Amino acid sequence: MKHNLKGTSLAQMRQLMTDHGHAPYRGDQIFQWIWQKHAHGFTVMTNLSKDIRVLFAEQYRICGLTVSDTISSQDGAVKYMMTTEDNHTIETVFITEEKRTTVCVSTQVGCPLNCSFCATGLMGFTRNLRAYEIADQVRTVQEKTGARITNIVLMGMGEPLLNVQEVLAALEICCAPNGLGISQRHTTLSTAGIIDGMKTLLASSLKVKLAVSLNFPDVKMRTQMMPVTKSNPLAEVLNLARAYSIRKSMVTFEYVLIDRINDRIQDARLLLRLIKGIRSKINLIPYNPHPRLPYRRPDEARIARFHEYLLDSPHTVTLRRSKGQEIMAACGQLCHLLVHSTEAVS
Ligand code: SF4
Repeated sequence: MKHNLKGTSLAQMRQLMTDHGHAPYRGDQIFQWIWQKHAHGFTVMTNLSKDIRVLFAEQYRICGLTVSDTISSQDGAVKYMMTTEDNHTIETVFITEEKRTTVCVSTQVGCPLNCSFCATGLMGFTRNLRAYEIADQVRTVQEKTGARITNIVLMGMGEPLLNVQEVLAALEICCAPNGLGISQRHTTLSTAGIIDGMKTLLASSLKVKLAVSLNFPDVKMRTQMMPVTKSNPLAEVLNLARAYSIRKSMVTFEYVLIDRINDRIQDARLLLRLIKGIRSKINLIPYNPHPRLPYRRPDEARIARFHEYLLDSPHTVTLRRSKGQEIMAACGQLCHLLVHSTEAVS
């Protein structure tokens, strides 16, 4: 089968052109055609010579994801079911909010972490997505909607930091001026707290925003609800979050409020104690129930009480209502919790 150029980074594309005896900048032109102009073949690449176009059409192909279904919700969220070349379906959500247009992308087919309150955990894990499959979700939404995408959140299916090398390569495509051109400041990666992946992200040159799904300040409860805590102790995750906030940017702690599980004032108190001194925001997300999961959203009085307690702290605290609940596209219904609204991104 011909080599798929969509899986080729910009540096590799330049090298490829050199190997074929052409100037490296020709690689930039092909990269732009693929990622900015949505080219699916070579004949449209009119700023390349006919010889290059013919040669490349003979030796290469440009293949990404295909949209197999689309569901829109009344609040403006759109869920895209996208199919990979090897026939796996992943979900991507497009959210419009005033001046922001956000794409929530998946990084794995399913998820191995099995957080007990998350619908994706029920699917099990199939495989990691390749870098181009992650970036192509954003490009595809851009192509289908014609919208200028302003924000990306890596909060769809999967744990991004269990697929960290492909995720970093995808973010290079998303944030490159020759690629999708999205600002790193408007790109948020959300993790359940993978220590090795956090170290890799910290050491990388990227300065995307980091969100940590904290959710359960009581370690015993967190270990029960998020088994990843066993091998990735919360204290070490918080140390790395602190380092990230010092060296890169303010961290967001995501907190999914679940009725009678983590919505007591003593939980709020413990949360503040844990994150004391870390330059961070707290993002509260009332739980989005799923028919196959036993958890409930707290009533409005309990949500308000928890929120008000935190407002006395030095942290900015936001209370977000996820979009897309009716189409099961909201946080934790798809999905990696969290903010399908984009507060963590601002
Ligand atoms: S919450 Fe995130 S990390 Fe946990 S099972 Fe769901 S997708 Fe995986």
